[in-house]
Amino acid sequence: QLDRSHYKTNRSAELYERAKLSIPGGVTANIKHFSPHPLFMKKGKGSKLYDADNHSYVDYLLCYGALILGHGHPAVYEAVIDQWSAAGTPVFGTPHEIETVMAEKLISLYRGIDSVRFTNSGLEATMLALRVASAFTGRSKVAKFEGHYHGGYDQVLFSIQPAPGEAGAADRPETIPESKGIPDYYTNHTLVLPFNDLEATKNLLRENAEELAAVIVEPVQGGFIPAHQAFMQGLRDITKELGIVLIFDEVKTGFRLSVGGAQELYKITPDLTALGKVLGGGFPVGAVGGRKDMMALLSPEGQDLLSAGGRQPSSERGLFHSGTYNGHPLVLAAGLATIEVLEKEGVMRNLFDTTDILRNELEALYLHYDLPMQTIGLGSIFNIVMTDRDIENYRDMKKADLNVRKRIDERVLKFGVYSKPLNRYSLSTVHDEQDLDFTIQAHEKAIIDMKDTDT
Ligand code: PMP
Repeated sequence: QLDRSHYKTNRSAELYERAKLSIPGGVTANIKHFSPHPLFMKKGKGSKLYDADNHSYVDYLLCYGALILGHGHPAVYEAVIDQWSAAGTPVFGTPHEIETVMAEKLISLYRGIDSVRFTNSGLEATMLALRVASAFTGRSKVAKFEGHYHGGYDQVLFSIQPAPGEAGAADRPETIPESKGIPDYYTNHTLVLPFNDLEATKNLLRENAEELAAVIVEPVQGGFIPAHQAFMQGLRDITKELGIVLIFDEVKTGFRLSVGGAQELYKITPDLTALGKVLGGGFPVGAVGGRKDMMALLSPEGQDLLSAGGRQPSSERGLFHSGTYNGHPLVLAAGLATIEVLEKEGVMRNLFDTTDILRNELEALYLHYDLPMQTIGLGSIFNIVMTDRDIENYRDMKKADLNVRKRIDERVLKFGVYSKPLNRYSLSTVHDEQDLDFTIQAHEKAIIDMKDTDT
């Protein structure tokens, strides 16, 4: 199975050339691109992806972690088909019962959630959470951590991968835009904090307290660098003391670290939580949940229909939130089916055990070949980092040898293991022993092949 001597990706190359004529860069999101051309997939089943040239791959991308039950899980498929059959239409554009069922589910699972609104992506969820925080505090600045991603919009698209020369001092990071086209307003209204450095974070928050509406944090940076328990507790304490809203961006950690997210694992209650990915069972989704007094600001609670929208002075208006597809019945049906599987006895435990086995075997393999490497992560997501030095934040990642990692990743892909070069590994509940053995063999072949060649 590992004989890939006939591995050619001609069809993907053709599709890429064609896509480039009508789609900038041939991809619908920057991150989907890699050189010399991305692979075009045409099928997924269980733990496997199949590309346009009919090669199969054990998939560790899993749509950036969303597909925790793997591709095409029967329970999710049936829930979607059943919902559509029963309703006769994919979407109503009106309130419906599944919204409340899902909201109740999230309230029961997440310690920081008393009330919920749905969105269509994780990006929209963090954006809405920041607006709620601004409305609640009457302040307009937000603080985020260096290296943390919350969606690609103007308020938070800063200092995710700043170049070493422009990132500023470690305890006082600069606010570096990640994109052209971001108005200066946002650069001046976004404070960047050093992750896992409590003293420096506290100092910066105290200095800016009067202007800060919120601190938004990924409890596990990029899904694989965990916050220290003491750091999270300190962040909770200082934000409470200064009256700053604490937002957990659990788009990645939600349903992955535990069914109740990072907040369950750390036993820390944020004011607001953003969810996404796994929540939609493979469909586009997001949700904001949080304290009742904050969520109650959302229109139209306590207002009649007219005052929920326009026609009154802006000072009397409520907090606007809308979306044609918010609370989409098929999406929520897929999400509920997914959560039900995850809640079954032993499912999460097995997933974590499988992940740990893979991590241990990979570490043993790299050690055998004298390559400095460690796996870092928590729960069912990890990253392969080519250094034996400690990794606690974005700057530490600079110590890793990205070049060796990339050379191995490019080869691993050819041997049938899919993860975008340099990306994390996410596991699903359907990855089994055979998949793990195959993956280890692919890595071994890749390492040997790399050692035999100069590039
Ligand atoms: N927050 C985090 C932590 C994420 O990982 C992502 C997506 N990778 C987002 C927000 C944005 O979610 P979406 O891509 O669904 O807009």
